[in-house]
Amino acid sequence: MRLTNDWQAAIRVIEKIEKSGYEAVIVGGAVRDTLLQKQVNDVDVATSAMPEEIKKIFHSTVDIGIAHGTVLVLDEGQPIEVTTYRTEGIYVDFRRPEQVTFVKSLEKDLERRDFTINAMAMTKSGELIDLYGGRKDIESGLIRAVGDPNTRFREDALRMLRAVRFSAQLGFTIESKTLSAIQQDSDLIEFIAKERLHMELTKMWTTNKVYDGINVLVESKLADYLMGDFHKYLEDWRYFSATSALVGWAYLCLLNREHLGEIINYYKLSNKEKNFIRNVLNAYQSLLNRWNELDYFQYDLETLEVAYDFAIWQKEKVPFRKEHIALVKSNLPIQSIGQLAINGNHLKDWASQKGGPWLKVALDAALLAVLKGQIKNDEKHLKDWFLNEFNDEG
Ligand code: ATP
Ligand code: MG
Repeated sequence: MRLTNDWQAAIRVIEKIEKSGYEAVIVGGAVRDTLLQKQVNDVDVATSAMPEEIKKIFHSTVDIGIAHGTVLVLDEGQPIEVTTYRTEGIYVDFRRPEQVTFVKSLEKDLERRDFTINAMAMTKSGELIDLYGGRKDIESGLIRAVGDPNTRFREDALRMLRAVRFSAQLGFTIESKTLSAIQQDSDLIEFIAKERLHMELTKMWTTNKVYDGINVLVESKLADYLMGDFHKYLEDWRYFSATSALVGWAYLCLLNREHLGEIINYYKLSNKEKNFIRNVLNAYQSLLNRWNELDYFQYDLETLEVAYDFAIWQKEKVPFRKEHIALVKSNLPIQSIGQLAINGNHLKDWASQKGGPWLKVALDAALLAVLKGQIKNDEKHLKDWFLNEFNDEG
């Protein structure tokens, strides 16, 4: 096993905790991804020590979720999340509780985890603790609830959407009893805070199997209780692929553009997401009428390329290749408005007039003429154009 820096830092954290007389192991996603020989992102540590004890053992810690027993340890170079063994106590309204109960045994901690593949632990020397057959399910590519699936989904209904997300992320199948339970309980997803739905879908958009994920979302009936029509637009997702989650949100919005406002509100999209969506949807609309120089100028390359992909996925006819976009954009006479040789003050001088709506019209016309290569971008040529041609036209 090749040890990443994170994993090595986690081992040092575990050694220190053990020296103080407590247990500690690596848990959750890191163990799963190691068995899958996938890149491990965050290495989480679980321990029998209480959060206060962890804060005594390490000099530098941050309370990132003390109510849930999580302390971030910074001592060992890489930040490592250390969480006290816990159960989740009482579930109200099918949601994960705000408060948790700390327990002394790792078994209890693993029992509260959602899926067998996520419920394994590993000691610092790499010994696997697998109480629920997680390794076997990894080998068979199965997402299986720990314990009775209906009970687990009624405790925390988000787990149903997590099953779909993990199936897309890992290319796994949801085991049949787990899938039936989701189909039975799918309506409970309506109780879940929209921020948590947002988090899971955000993770899904950058997986390799988004189309498969949407398919399972429909098959599991979760789609019936989520905003957006996944059933009707299933085939539109077939070629979708993205390295940024923003693209997933934008595509969902494009497909459901008749309910754009509702989608944005329901999933509580951020300002960054909203701006990206607005730009891409506008660029997409312009593309259908053929982009002009102003479009190439005003949208950044990413926006243009995403709008282009959308058009392809939507089977729109686009009469040029994607590489063409960067080429056209880089060949524009200017790249930003600051590079235009004149500004509003020049125009006001030349016209001997105060500012007003005419000014924006004239500046836009100058910009477009420069972008189209009709006028050279210097003061003299622009002045000639303004005094002789623009005024005549306007
Ligand atoms: P990723 O690599 O996508 O972050 P992960 O397995 O680390 O995957 P997280 O959402 O970060 O997923 O959760 C960490 C671990 O906490 C999971 O592996 C699982 O054991 C447990 N877990 C997270 N959310 C839940 C939940 N809603 N119910 C039960 N256990 C959960
Ligand atoms: Mg994680």
